[in-house]
Amino acid sequence: MNCPWCAFQGTPRGLHAHLAEAHPEGVRFETRGNRRVYVVECPICHSGYDQAIKPGLDDPEFLVEFEREIRLVGFDMMVNHLLGEHPEQQQEAGSSEPAETTQTND
Ligand SMILES: [Zn+2]
Ligand SMILES: [Zn+2]
Repeated sequence: MNCPWCAFQGTPRGLHAHLAEAHPEGVRFETRGNRRVYVVECPICHSGYDQAIKPGLDDPEFLVEFEREIRLVGFDMMVNHLLGEHPEQQQEAGSSEPAETTQTND
């Protein structure tokens, strides 16, 4: 699959990890009234999902950890969305497999 933001290519699982690492802003956290939500917006068609985060999360440390997990869930949704809605993102890189250099280093 192709990353919608950059030239990265990989498996859905690889893309998922890449998104979380390289494009964490792809999942946004917003406050609406007294509710926290996270927003996943497709960079291609700009359709968005927003999901409420369970209320009562007052512990900032917990929230940091929680946001990391939510981000993984959010990117999971995004990868599924790309798979379902943007099959052109799944173009295989053809026969350009990484050349394996068989060097014998001593
Ligand atoms: Zn990328
Ligand atoms: Zn889309």
